[in-house]
Amino acid sequence: MLSQLRQIVEQVGEAKNLTVAMDILVQQTKRVMEVDCCSIYLTDDQAQKLNLMASEGLSNQTPLSHYLKFGEGIVGLIHQKGEPLNLANITEHPHYKYLPGSQEDNFNSFLGTPIIHKRQVLGVLVAQQKSPRFFSELEESFLVTLAMHLASVLGNSGLCLEINDHLQPGSAMHLQGCPASSGIAIAPAYVVRPIFTLDAVKIEKSSSPAKDILLFEMMVTKCSDEFSNMALTLKEQLSKEAFAMFDIYSHVLKDKTFLNTIRGQINEAHLSASSAIKVVAESYIKQFEAMSDSYLSERASDIRDVAQRLLYHLAQQVDDNIELPDKLILVANEVTLSMLASIPKENLQGIVSVRGGISSHVAILARALGVPAVMGVSLSLSNLNAQLLIVDGYAGSMVLFPDSSLLKHYQQLLNEEEDLKNLVASDVHKEAVTQDGFKVDILLNTGLNANQHGAVAGQFDGIGLYRSELPFMLTDAFPTELEQISTYQTLLEQYQQLPVTMRTLDVGGDKQLSYFPIVEDNPFLGWRGIRLTLDHPEIFLVQIRAMLKANRHTQNLRIMLPMISAIDEVMEAKILIHQAWNEVKYELMLAADAFPMPHIGVMIEVPSSIFIIRELASQVDFISIGSNDLIQYLLAVDRNNSRVSQLFDSYHPAVLQCLKLIIDNALRYKLEVSICGELAGDPIGSLILLGLGYNKLSMNANNMDKIKYLINALPKKELENCIELALEASSGKEIRAIFINYMDRKGLGGFIRAGK
Ligand code: PEP
Ligand code: MG
Repeated sequence: MLSQLRQIVEQVGEAKNLTVAMDILVQQTKRVMEVDCCSIYLTDDQAQKLNLMASEGLSNQTPLSHYLKFGEGIVGLIHQKGEPLNLANITEHPHYKYLPGSQEDNFNSFLGTPIIHKRQVLGVLVAQQKSPRFFSELEESFLVTLAMHLASVLGNSGLCLEINDHLQPGSAMHLQGCPASSGIAIAPAYVVRPIFTLDAVKIEKSSSPAKDILLFEMMVTKCSDEFSNMALTLKEQLSKEAFAMFDIYSHVLKDKTFLNTIRGQINEAHLSASSAIKVVAESYIKQFEAMSDSYLSERASDIRDVAQRLLYHLAQQVDDNIELPDKLILVANEVTLSMLASIPKENLQGIVSVRGGISSHVAILARALGVPAVMGVSLSLSNLNAQLLIVDGYAGSMVLFPDSSLLKHYQQLLNEEEDLKNLVASDVHKEAVTQDGFKVDILLNTGLNANQHGAVAGQFDGIGLYRSELPFMLTDAFPTELEQISTYQTLLEQYQQLPVTMRTLDVGGDKQLSYFPIVEDNPFLGWRGIRLTLDHPEIFLVQIRAMLKANRHTQNLRIMLPMISAIDEVMEAKILIHQAWNEVKYELMLAADAFPMPHIGVMIEVPSSIFIIRELASQVDFISIGSNDLIQYLLAVDRNNSRVSQLFDSYHPAVLQCLKLIIDNALRYKLEVSICGELAGDPIGSLILLGLGYNKLSMNANNMDKIKYLINALPKKELENCIELALEASSGKEIRAIFINYMDRKGLGGFIRAGK
């Protein structure tokens, strides 16, 4: 049975969509187990039903019309208890309920097992036989193993539900993805497919390589112009950094290695222009997709988008001026920047992408535009166009075929969200001061994922974290001192009235440079941040020299060191910083008083650094908490591993105790402290920090207005009371509940969920 099991698993894994996968599974299982019937029921949590989705043996011409309510029948019992049931005669069981119209009355023996993914019962897999008998242990373990495979297919794979007879208007279908941008949207689906896909290109030889080269060069120019125009279209709607994403497209089109490899395929391998684009782009995509760093692996979609745009122009197709619906939800297998750019902001209500994660460019752009977005939803696009959808960007879910009561519910949430937006917008130009006069500095995180600080210029007190990795990730080699000077100068000049905290290069872990790959068994515990740059002083010194030179006229730079775990690292880094400072002073022929040393600080993100704050206070001017890493190291939970993501608990009592210890010691040793991890921009996180006494919060631009509003709306004293309770709590759940109750009492529930 083992080899048959493997075969079924392989066939299911290769199915082109979920409907086909389920059909294969029931057919093959029925055959291999030699039973009379095999069926799959899937849960619909919203409707509290178990829908019959596939069956070989039951009458299922119109599945979905066949369902059991939660707790109903034997299938309902298995779903409820989450354990298998083996019955020789099902009709004798007190829970038995006949599924009307299914011809189930033919069967006596019954074996059912829950389909469980990440502790959630997604459905029930059932085998049935006419003759009454108990199923053997072997059969039981066979079905359980298959259910486990089906669970991972349902939970993880890109297999998609198709809209066909199984899914009909009137039967609301809830689908889960990941929350890429918060907010609610209700509008018809507008399905976009790339006009030319790489897959569709057939490899052909060129009849005239010279002509193909010419054509290719023309298309590169055409695409570059097009991307510049798109960036201009979006300029009105986007902040500087968000639309600078288009630079990455332009960067692909300027990438000499990429272009020369295509030229080589035309000139030397004599491929046609489109074939050469396909061959080269696909090899790049493969390389990017194989990278473990999520930021880099997302770059595969940039290459695909650019290549498909080149193909489009090569075929000399002209965009039909298709009339767009007034309001739409953009749906695509892989939503791309150019798709986004081609849709006016006023029409775009939401985004659903089958592929992509929350660190994709589209997700970043969606957040910058304030458009609700859900990524990674398993759904087939056929027959989806113009169907009414609901997108819940808070929960990362969408609803297909919403009925009138669901529509009414989400419309109400949408109205409440609109009220909330108007409400917080009124505070955006105010300072952040609690009702009892506690002033909080609101700082901006920028760099890798920051996207819209231009749009909120003047509304914050400085840059709390500039992640300097981006310029290093966008080049094919370490950027030169001159290149770095120009990047840093732009930022320092843009905010010359404000302090700008630049973090030195923090690569390693999940942030890899394509030209300097680091392969390690435990990259997060390995050669990362300051550990790497201290081992490569030539890289560190160039970066510090560039920062110092860029700061010459503005004098608003602060330097921050990542991943500090011991005081020696700080001292060694300071020696190098002083060396660079002396070199630059000498090179620019400056007097020491005309060239002050910037303030130097460290990130508190490795737990050991919490216990050396006294020593740090004598060496540095400030510390800033990187809660993202601090939590991952404190709780031993990889921040990028979805298997353990539920354990990444920002409100864990240990996190709270650490935050308290840090502020207590910082106050004791008179050391400036801020927080620049995601916790500062999280509504509950910000209240916890305020209650503990933190007064410098650094966050993404998108969160600023909400957090300011919360600060202005509440007295610190009450937050201190909540903290007193929270410090006694024994779980993150309890701590969360304390703050949710408080926010609900204050009428601020809309900050943490859709609706008030
Ligand atoms: C952090 O760890 O909280 C932090 C701000 O740094 P990064 O997310 O870049 O690791
Ligand atoms: Mg970090």
